[in-house]
Amino acid sequence: MGSGNMGSRREVLGIGAGMAALGLAPGLASRAFAADRKIGDAAADRKIGYAIVGLGYYATRQIMPNFAGCENARLVALVSGTPAKLEQYGSEYGIPPSYRYSYDQFDRIRDNPDIDAVYIVLPNSLHAEYSIRAAQAGKHVLCEKPMATSVAECQAMIAASRKAGKKLMIGYRSRFEPYNRLAIELARGGHVGPTRLITAEHGFPIQPGQWRLDKALSGGGSMMDIGIYSLNAARYLTGEEPVEVSAVESTDRSDPRFRTVEDRISFVLRFPSGIEANCISSYSSAHNGYRVIGTQGWIAMEPATPYVGQTMTIRKDGVTAPRTLPPPARNQFAGQLDHLAECILKGTTPIVAGEEGLADMRVIEAIYRSAAERRHIEMTA
Ligand code: NAD
Repeated sequence: MGSGNMGSRREVLGIGAGMAALGLAPGLASRAFAADRKIGDAAADRKIGYAIVGLGYYATRQIMPNFAGCENARLVALVSGTPAKLEQYGSEYGIPPSYRYSYDQFDRIRDNPDIDAVYIVLPNSLHAEYSIRAAQAGKHVLCEKPMATSVAECQAMIAASRKAGKKLMIGYRSRFEPYNRLAIELARGGHVGPTRLITAEHGFPIQPGQWRLDKALSGGGSMMDIGIYSLNAARYLTGEEPVEVSAVESTDRSDPRFRTVEDRISFVLRFPSGIEANCISSYSSAHNGYRVIGTQGWIAMEPATPYVGQTMTIRKDGVTAPRTLPPPARNQFAGQLDHLAECILKGTTPIVAGEEGLADMRVIEAIYRSAAERRHIEMTA
């Protein structure tokens, strides 16, 4: 696994020619382009080329460095409104100038056959617009969570990808993280007896002065940003969709951070099997964990969804013990980049397709409605 086996052979055979075709000296072959096409391997003849849209924290610190650990994905293009970032990251990753785009030039990605997929890492309210434009440009899309800021936007994104015959995946990275995958298997497999209750908490004290606190850009407060991890976990640990939602919001509106978005929401989801999930989403306290409670014990993940350091403890039949796994060959970031690439290459559907983002957004809208109207909301199919 990984790209550690890239040989000089590939560079000799493929990359020099590619660079020449771009009008570049082969000596400019860089990490992105030299980071290996599988020349001569007919079954996996090429890596899927990604364009990253939005060069902020998550894109530059977590996503872009992890292409190095991918087997089927490579970084080929950048889209940003800041010329200095295009220059900085373009140089660092060896992206030629003609593969660096401003937002105004975004639709020109249509004419670049090396871009197979576009990864949208923009503020939430821009996800729908850029995902739809990417699909219209004939590209597959990986879009960060939350998928968008409303059910209607999610539906429009799914429709655009379908119309284009392209894939749409949402950046639910925990689904590519081994401990979360094991938790799903254990919870759904009844390892601690049938699941009766799930608790899930996610939050952090947010710093002022960022787009996350501007509803026009974020679409909402903690629920859209960090609480979605509690919600998504409750859904993936059960494999069910909630039939009833109730929520209570606690926001100090005199706190300048919370002029337009909510701070804390506590919400309860009832699932068809009778499982109940008690969840917290917060912008003023530090939480990261969930617990699956069955008739014979519990599975605790704390922390559950950080970038690294997931920790699992299981109590079963009166015995409590940590559960550890060997380090994965691919981390969760490389895993999700490769997953979409593999789906494209094999013609399969991502495990976290647009419908998964839409399902979360339906529940988020119900959570907001329940909190505003102070009543239970029944979910209709
Ligand atoms: P960020 O503020 O660091 O980056 C956002 C980028 O968008 C910046 O480069 C900014 O210049 C650009 N941008 C373009 N148009 C903009 C506009 N009109 N207003 C403000 N910025 C604009 O944010 P981030 O933390 O990188 O988050 C980006 C997306 O990634 C969000 O949707 C967020 O939810 C998601 N995210 C996901 C994870 C995860 O673990 N899956 C982690 C962090 C962020």
